[in-house]
Amino acid sequence: MYKEKGLLIVLSGPSGVGKGTVRKEIFSQNDAKFEYSISMTTRKPREGEVDGVDYFFKSREEFEQLIEQGKLLEYAEFVGNYYGTPVDYVRDTIENGRDVFLEIEVQGARQVREKFPEALFIFLAPPSLSELRNRIVTRGTETEDVISKRLQTAKEEIEMMDLYDYVVENDEVKLACERIKSIVVAEHCKRERISKRYQIMLEAE
Ligand code: 5GP
Repeated sequence: MYKEKGLLIVLSGPSGVGKGTVRKEIFSQNDAKFEYSISMTTRKPREGEVDGVDYFFKSREEFEQLIEQGKLLEYAEFVGNYYGTPVDYVRDTIENGRDVFLEIEVQGARQVREKFPEALFIFLAPPSLSELRNRIVTRGTETEDVISKRLQTAKEEIEMMDLYDYVVENDEVKLACERIKSIVVAEHCKRERISKRYQIMLEAE
């Protein structure tokens, strides 16, 4: 029997734009129809973060082993730490017909674009760069040096919007979430997906 594969949804965008907040909001609403892929990282847990919920926290050695074993769909080094997406989870979930949602930084998104060109790429954009700066500063956990590095990176990343299928401005978290969910619904209604399904049904008759 024909089983439609799930979508791979990639949410990315510049540092400090609020990807984590938007992702948490989407998954706190019970109507999210997609699965969140929990990332691996070598970063230390922040207060309140739980292993296996927020991230799988790994040592550098463990992480480098995962890279060697080909266990990561993508990975990147970001502000001194590794972050990566477990490939088996993503493939299994998609094969089972469920949509998978990645919230990753832009270098990783570029790798996914190469490996999974059929994925849905959504760029979360800041209303403006000054707004972005305010958000990073008020987060309060970063030094000036880290902030200015992150800002420089962000400027470069904004120029990378071209790689994406959709751009969602994060002017208001709830609105951004609604836009993302609408994009996913629209993607499921794409003619190519629907017609393929019917084609296969007809062939089975
Ligand atoms: P944080 O340390 O604030 O949780 O995350 C830092 C950055 O890493 C964020 O931009 C977040 O989107 C990104 N990130 C989280 N998980 C992954 C991942 O699996 N792969 C990549 N490439 N980036 C990730």
